[in-house]
Amino acid sequence: MPNSTPLPKTARVTNYNDPDRITIAIQKSGRLADSSRSLLDRCGLHVTRSKDGLFGYGESMPVDLLFIRDDDIPAFVADGHADFGIVGRNVAEEFALSATDSRPPFSVRKSLSFGACRLSIAVGEDVDYVGPSSLDNLRIATTYPNITRRFLELHNLDADIATLAGSVELAPRLGSADAIADIVSTGRTLRAHHLKEVEVIMRSTAVVLQSSEPLTDDLEAVAKRLFLRIDSTLRVDESKYVMLHAPVGAVDSIAELLPGAEQPSVLPLAGTSDRVALHAVCREAVLWEHLENLKSAGASAILVMPVERMLL
Ligand code: ATP
Ligand code: ZN
Repeated sequence: MPNSTPLPKTARVTNYNDPDRITIAIQKSGRLADSSRSLLDRCGLHVTRSKDGLFGYGESMPVDLLFIRDDDIPAFVADGHADFGIVGRNVAEEFALSATDSRPPFSVRKSLSFGACRLSIAVGEDVDYVGPSSLDNLRIATTYPNITRRFLELHNLDADIATLAGSVELAPRLGSADAIADIVSTGRTLRAHHLKEVEVIMRSTAVVLQSSEPLTDDLEAVAKRLFLRIDSTLRVDESKYVMLHAPVGAVDSIAELLPGAEQPSVLPLAGTSDRVALHAVCREAVLWEHLENLKSAGASAILVMPVERMLL
């Protein structure tokens, strides 16, 4: 949840921001912490943590990590304390909208596949909601006042925004607001509080923010290498290696049913001339229904395997 805590002083210790190394700020603990850590780890960035756990020295590349609260990440990147930061697009956007400077405080270098959620408006489940106009003259509690205000302005609505630091979903029951604008992923929390989701204001995933302070040529080369690895790692997450047996006459139609596959390899099968083996890397999720369709088209012995690494 965003708030205005001052930047931890530890981050200003100079060796935490070595000009000859890249600094990436990631969430210390919370919903994005493990995925951020593991993404960078799988890209070959292995770090030694400082005793206080706030700093990670990259042993394998000139790249260090700062482990901080997610709310502090946009400010760290905007102020140049970190060259990059991994944070929810929701938190980045809220910060950017609050910035008074006309220059964008950072850019989004990459969208990641984890941390998916949405910022939604919810009202009591018995409210008769007909559309955004139902929000006119209401009081909306949120930790995202700027994104919520932008939504209200877009719809020409005159609603009051109550900015809370947390526990937003309690506000309607406490009588301090009529509606809320809050982060939703499954909707379970809303239901538990007898609220219903009526508008999605924004969709979010984790993103990599980049500071507007330029990197030296050497560090930009390091960053490029790291982002290539990030791309490959994200692609690998979705990719599967599929092997199957197919009737010779159905190879083309079966190949077309493989999701996101390029030219498959066709290999002979020992002891038979009317069936062949097909191997392909599928760059999209391979679902049960894909397998069922392959089987209906004549495929058998279908194996789907994870891909460990990929360099294209
Ligand atoms: P911190 O202690 O670092 O301030 P926090 O409690 O503010 O953490 P988390 O709950 O860890 O934040 O959420 C971090 C981000 O995870 C959110 O800003 C959002 O982008 C994403 N996210 C994904 N699903 C959810 C969810 N169900 N509820 C809240 N955030 C979610
Ligand atoms: Zn937070």
